[in-house]
Amino acid sequence: MGDHTPIEWVRALAEKRNAIPATWNPIDGCSRATAGCRLCYAAQLVHVRLSKSIPGRYAGLTELDAQNVPRFNGVVRLAEHVLDAPKKARRPRVYFVCDMADLFHPNVPWDWLDRIFATMAATPQHTYLLLTKRPDVLMAYAGLAVQCGEHWLAGQAVAQAVRWPLPNVWIGTTVTDQKDAAANIPLLLSTPAVMRFISAEPLLGPVDLTAIQRPFDDCLIQYDALDGRWHEVDGFSAGYGMERINWVIAGGESGGSDRPAHPDWFRSLRDQCTAVGVPFLFKQWGEFREFDTGGPDVETVEADDQFSIPVGYHPCELGAIKPHFVTPDGRCFQHFHDIPEGTPARLMERAGKKAAGRVLDGRTWDQVPEVA
Ligand code: SF4
Repeated sequence: MGDHTPIEWVRALAEKRNAIPATWNPIDGCSRATAGCRLCYAAQLVHVRLSKSIPGRYAGLTELDAQNVPRFNGVVRLAEHVLDAPKKARRPRVYFVCDMADLFHPNVPWDWLDRIFATMAATPQHTYLLLTKRPDVLMAYAGLAVQCGEHWLAGQAVAQAVRWPLPNVWIGTTVTDQKDAAANIPLLLSTPAVMRFISAEPLLGPVDLTAIQRPFDDCLIQYDALDGRWHEVDGFSAGYGMERINWVIAGGESGGSDRPAHPDWFRSLRDQCTAVGVPFLFKQWGEFREFDTGGPDVETVEADDQFSIPVGYHPCELGAIKPHFVTPDGRCFQHFHDIPEGTPARLMERAGKKAAGRVLDGRTWDQVPEVA
């Protein structure tokens, strides 16, 4: 557990709420859930450092995959000694719960979840952000909690009966591409909550939040997850008022990634959000940033209708910026000769996470939801 976390979206929300940005990790351990887990920062940190410096807590949670990349092995543990820590924190915090694991990993027993939610229920001065790659488990747990009514946390040390959803708990899910969006967003929006958010990081493909499909009664509907409008696919019914996403966070992959995000994927998410007033936060470019010629006197031109390349550069002279070319559908090429003819591609520079920064089109995007 740590106060003053550097995680940008936690900091931005904490600043808005005049609270301390913090992390709280009552669960240790995880396993990969999606393609976005490949370079899991937590698995690398645990494998390389924490399993040696704090073996009692972290040893035995990771292994190396076939490419020698550390990954969690599915072992999960309850960190008993931090369970009550938020109760001792008097000043309000915004807690990112489990930034080193997934609270809703299928190996986490639900009585552990009850104990963790009991702490959140007992500390209404704090705001808790739950981000999961397993919204199906979140929805199943929430469904049971709703069914239990005021008996949900009976037997836990909670002063008075509480019901799901807790007013100080925000729920979110990770969306790396449209497939993730189609699978995860309906589950997130079907789970009762006071606030819902998505983390589009690492963004690995374009995402259209305005065209999510899900079954509804006996038909298939398509809806806009940002403004709640819907219409029946192959039918005439339409309406509005569906549950919506309240906050969108986006970022590229870091940690030695070779999967640059196409810059227009971020722009599209930003534009979808700003069109309907949903807060958008651009967390980071990641390992790569859009190539910037660095001066107003340098223009870009279209070369063979394939990609933009700065005037004065020959493609073969771009080695210094370790170029990658990314297509709108997410294919990535290290050499421009490999780009299929007629395929548009964007030139990306491997700058490293710090240098790549988080400026998109000349400004930072740190919007967070307005809440009382
Ligand atoms: S779900 Fe999160 S913590 Fe678990 S492996 Fe994936 S990225 Fe890592």
